[in-house]
Amino acid sequence: EESVVNRIAAGEVIQRPSSAVKELVENSIDAGASTVSVTVKDGGLKLIQVSDDGHGIRCEDLPILCERHTTSKLSAYEDLQTIKSMGFRGEALASMTYVGHVTVTTITEGQLHGYRVSYRDGVMENDPKPCAAVKGTQVMVENLFYNMVARRKTLQNSNDDYPKIVDFISRFAVHHINVNFSCRKHGANRADVHSGSTSSRLDAIRNVYGASVVRDLMEIQVSDENAVDEIFKMDGFISNANYVAKKTTMILFINDRLVDCTSLKRATEFVYSAILPQASKPFIYMSINLPPEHVDVNIHPTKKEVSLLNQERIIEKIKDAIEEKLMNCNNTRIFQTQA
Ligand code: ADP
Ligand code: MG
Repeated sequence: EESVVNRIAAGEVIQRPSSAVKELVENSIDAGASTVSVTVKDGGLKLIQVSDDGHGIRCEDLPILCERHTTSKLSAYEDLQTIKSMGFRGEALASMTYVGHVTVTTITEGQLHGYRVSYRDGVMENDPKPCAAVKGTQVMVENLFYNMVARRKTLQNSNDDYPKIVDFISRFAVHHINVNFSCRKHGANRADVHSGSTSSRLDAIRNVYGASVVRDLMEIQVSDENAVDEIFKMDGFISNANYVAKKTTMILFINDRLVDCTSLKRATEFVYSAILPQASKPFIYMSINLPPEHVDVNIHPTKKEVSLLNQERIIEKIKDAIEEKLMNCNNTRIFQTQA
């Protein structure tokens, strides 16, 4: 049955509460939001609520909103080559309705009131009800994995997903500095992430990770624009030799997508291990930009990993640049000590 197929597929797209949060926040960013607020109850199993002030969803689109493969971001396969939005499969909202209870409240510009509607298994449960709403969209996911006993049990037994959610929001906040992100536990007065909106990357990092991190950061830029067959640019902030941490923080965006790249992380840690006096781990924020046709965003169900053309060469270049930066800062350090 189709519903069985859909539920199995949904369990792969939405693996845990934090993956639902990531999808919802990406939708908010795709909608051009400048404020994104996240509220979580019971590590996301009871409730995930993401509110934004983006462009909203038209009332006439609400009936199909949570159908699988329904997206406003792409229509032809070729669009995938130049895709700028984070979503493109039209699977996230649909998936959430197969493994949880989804309620959407939204208003588009120029409307006097918004609409609220709930979804189950891809379909609207009732006609959209007119309601009061401010700008944008709020998506509420309740009782995630209510119909997947094993998944719910594992998540209940394992560590709460909340730290992972905070981590995601923190990373987004460092990259999308003009968006004001907040994240809190349901009922809590204080937000655990509150990024503010700023025009300075360092301010954003300070707001999220604290002043002590920022003190030890250096700006880094690498580009390979002379090469005939490749144009790549990286800019970011990396910690210097004074920074001390037990764990690596690696915030990596490739063409504005939050991704993991194990080989780049390893290469970076390797450079640091050779240069730093103590076995301290670095803090890295990198934003890499490549021509869209050099990035395959579609190799992983959650788009967590991407594959890059000329990956080795890019990593080599970045490694060299980090090495050089660290050498220079190490010299400075020795000089200061002697003085
Ligand atoms: P995708 O992001 O791949 O298009 P989703 O299932 O995440 O698929 O979302 C389906 C569609 O719902 C999107 O294409 C978009 O048109 C609409 N949508 C979802 N979330 C929002 C939001 N926060 N604001 C405006 N539109 C949204
Ligand atoms: Mg999406």
